[in-house]
Amino acid sequence: MTEAARRRTRARIRLIKIQWLLILVLTVALAISVITRPSASVVEPIVEEPTPQVETPVEPESTPEPVCLGEFRTTAYCTCVKCCGIWSSEHPSRVGTDYVQRTKSGTIPTAGRTVSVDPDVIPLGTAIIIDGHEYIAEDTGNAVKGNTLDIYFDSHEAAVEYGVQKKTIYIKGE
Ligand SMILES: [Zn+2]
Repeated sequence: MTEAARRRTRARIRLIKIQWLLILVLTVALAISVITRPSASVVEPIVEEPTPQVETPVEPESTPEPVCLGEFRTTAYCTCVKCCGIWSSEHPSRVGTDYVQRTKSGTIPTAGRTVSVDPDVIPLGTAIIIDGHEYIAEDTGNAVKGNTLDIYFDSHEAAVEYGVQKKTIYIKGE
């Protein structure tokens, strides 16, 4: 092997060494950059702050004392023609039509709730207490004037059975 050939071989080995060194340096640099890069995938664990439970005192619903309206003459009615005349769904002029018999308030008359009043004495919508039971002033009637109430019943028989009774009436204030 000539001197020149040996020098070329040494030069080639040095070149290969430098190349390997470069690759090593680049690899290390890449590794460092990967490690130190702020990763977006690392999410701070959300620590749920315990919501302080504020005890809200339950406001007692203002239930004003019922107001006594004194003694009323109470009668009873149902939806029949005898009781409601032309307003009854059983009235010949209503039969076969899509007429729905409703109270003055627009509700379906319901026993145990509907009471007919003189709206000048008791406004519609007023809660009326008769014998401890709460009704609603939902309806009006030609015969219901002044200190008179007409209590709704499901059947004419029940209404007749009720008859006419004097009752002490209470209404609930607003
Ligand atoms: Zn009736």
